[in-house]
Amino acid sequence: MRVIAIDGPAGAGKSTIGRALAARLGLQYLDTGAMYRAVTFIAMRRELPLHDTEVIAELSRQIDLRVDDDGVFVDGLDATSAIRTPQVTAAVSAVAANSGVRTEMRRRQREWAMQHGGGVIEGRDIGSVVFPDAELKLHLTASPRIRAERRVAEAGGDVDEIEAAIAARDHYDSTRADSPLTLADGSIVVDTTGLGIDAVIAHIESLMEQA
Ligand code: C5P
Repeated sequence: MRVIAIDGPAGAGKSTIGRALAARLGLQYLDTGAMYRAVTFIAMRRELPLHDTEVIAELSRQIDLRVDDDGVFVDGLDATSAIRTPQVTAAVSAVAANSGVRTEMRRRQREWAMQHGGGVIEGRDIGSVVFPDAELKLHLTASPRIRAERRVAEAGGDVDEIEAAIAARDHYDSTRADSPLTLADGSIVVDTTGLGIDAVIAHIESLMEQA
């Protein structure tokens, strides 16, 4: 099983680079952030109390969840765009800090990798916890300003507000007790500030050749 792990903070380019890398390597791509977003979305839609860790953990175990190239589907609902709203983005870190939810998402992620013969898997704890033995572990980063500007280019909004929201989410994701965003052992830092997609991919390919 061939796993390439890509971790890093919001807006570092993980999805763009992950998809491009997967296509180059002939592997499937999994966005694990979309899974945490999907749990958050369906909990909000059902008006469940997000702070009730047992209720939300149980929900995460019960739902039918599919994340693939066609989109994100939860219990038959197409949630592809709904998981990206500012409301879900603001709430997702609290849901992702729920250990019961994380245990279930990790189980699903490992099952997905087994079914797909590995893949390029993107998130916050992929190289540190989910696949510590991945063939290559990348930690993508970029300056907070650049990350905010990328998000504004994708989805609009005020760059100062988005930068503050990203900083708050990174802080939450990096300081939670269960599998926080951290630099995994053996992970290679790739700073994408000022680099285009092709330059980042070329750099990663040279890292793979060296390995
Ligand atoms: O990658 P994205 O920004 O869509 O992730 C949304 C949120 O999901 C993150 O802010 C984080 O709280 C959570 N997440 C996580 N572990 C992962 C992937 C995402 O905790 N492996």
